[in-house]
Parts: sequence; C-alpha cells; structure tokens
Amino acid sequence: MTDASLVVTDLHVEFSGFVAVGGVSFDAHPGEVRFLIGPNGAGKTTCIDAITGLTRATGSARLGGKELLGRPVHKIVRLGVGRTFQTASVFDELTVLQNLDIAAGRHRRSASLLRARRGTDGSIEQALEETGLAGEFATPSGILSHGQKQWLEIAMLLVQDAKVLLLDEPVAGMSQDERTATGELLQRIAAKRIVLVVEHDMDFMRRFATRVTVLHQGRVLSQGAVAEVQADPKVQEVYLGT
Ligand code: ADP
Repeated sequence: MTDASLVVTDLHVEFSGFVAVGGVSFDAHPGEVRFLIGPNGAGKTTCIDAITGLTRATGSARLGGKELLGRPVHKIVRLGVGRTFQTASVFDELTVLQNLDIAAGRHRRSASLLRARRGTDGSIEQALEETGLAGEFATPSGILSHGQKQWLEIAMLLVQDAKVLLLDEPVAGMSQDERTATGELLQRIAAKRIVLVVEHDMDFMRRFATRVTVLHQGRVLSQGAVAEVQADPKVQEVYLGT
C-alpha cells in the first residue's frame, strides 16, 4: 500500500431501505490492474457511483488519504478520480484531437483560469501515443471503431491527469484483438495510476487482473489474487460456475 492508494472501507449504500452495497471494503494502488467483478445486481456500479459522488454512501473512500465521500462530484474529479461508462461519451461530431482538447481545457480551467486550453505540456500528444490513437487525431470521433472510442475516453482521462481510472466494462462489445490491446493499455497505465475495472468478461479478467474483488448481493464474497479467487469454492458456486 502506498500513500497514493484508493482505500474503500465499509462502504454502504441504500436505496429506500434496500441495501445495494452492504459494507464493502477493498483497496487499489498503482502498479496493479484491479478488478471488481460479480453477477448483475451485485453492487459494482453502485460502488463506483459512490466513489465518484453520484450516489450518497456511508463508510469511507480515501484517495491518497483524502476522504472522497461527501464531496461534490466536481471536487472528486479535481482530486483525480476519473471514470468511463459502458457507452462511450465522446462528442461524435468533433475530431479526436478536439475531444482531447476539451477534456484538457476543462481540467486546466478548473485548475487555473490563467492557464486555460493550451495543450503545451504535451499531455495530449502523450495520451494519443499511449492509447494508439496518434494516427487518428484528425478523425471525427463518430467514425472511430467501438474500441477506439473507448480508448479515446481513456485518453481523455489521461489528459485530465486522473490518478484513478474507474472503468465500467471497458471491453464490452470489443473484438478479441481490441480486448488484448485494451488489456495491454491498462497494464501500461497502471504502472503509474490506479486502474479499477468493473467487468463481466471472465476471460479478460483472468488475462489481465492482478487482484480481484468479487461482489455478491452487495457484499464482498472473495478477494485476492486471480488464482486464489478462482479457486475459492464460494466464487465457483455463485459466479464462475466452473
Ligand atoms: P451491478 O453493477 O453489479 O450490476 P448495481 O450496482 O447496478 O449492480 O446494482 C446493485 C443493486 O442496486 C441492484 O439490485 C439494483 O437494482 C439496485 N439499484 C441500483 N441503482 C439503484 C437506484 N438508483 N434505485 C434503486 N435501486 C438501485
């Protein structure tokens, strides 16, 4: 564990008395590709919603020692928490570069009005290289492949200098080659940042996860290294079915 870790402790979310997340604890830190898995309705998205300030929760979610719960969404973003959704939310009519410029500008404006929208720090170029989109900078985002759109969303988080990337089913709908490219991209990003992936795809999880937390009915069923979790009879019974 490092000072840069994301530490979630006893997270609890209720919707009108229904316990969607009932005391979930896990941590994630740079250097690992961390997975949160579980069947539909297990509470994965609700955990991410709580960490990003979209849903009220009790317990604690600390990033680098700073409490995230109870802060408004924009402050949580400013502390370095970035998120993608299952459906890519890029501006289709704008080019890849324009989308990145907006993401970077938004961040810089919030960081400092005076340093607005320049891209002079090379972060956009780096993000394009990192995500394999350098050759597509002038392409209208609407004609990118499904995989490329997801990578553009990740690139947008990189130019915003997110310390934590929370990725909701990033490989859903991707080809096998795109899945592999995405897994390798996440491994590179995870060297310096926290990467937490919510995923259904077991094969992708097995190939690229370092540690896994399995949720079931709003609680942690099992967590640890991939091999450990896979061998856990509780997990086999309720989820993996193997
Ligand atoms: P997962 O992401 O693991 O599929 P979710 O976190 O989306 O699961 O949902 C966990 C549980 O909470 C489900 O039973 C879901 O129906 C319920 N739930 C999620 N959001 C709400 C909401 N806004 N109001 C009421 N119930 C919700």
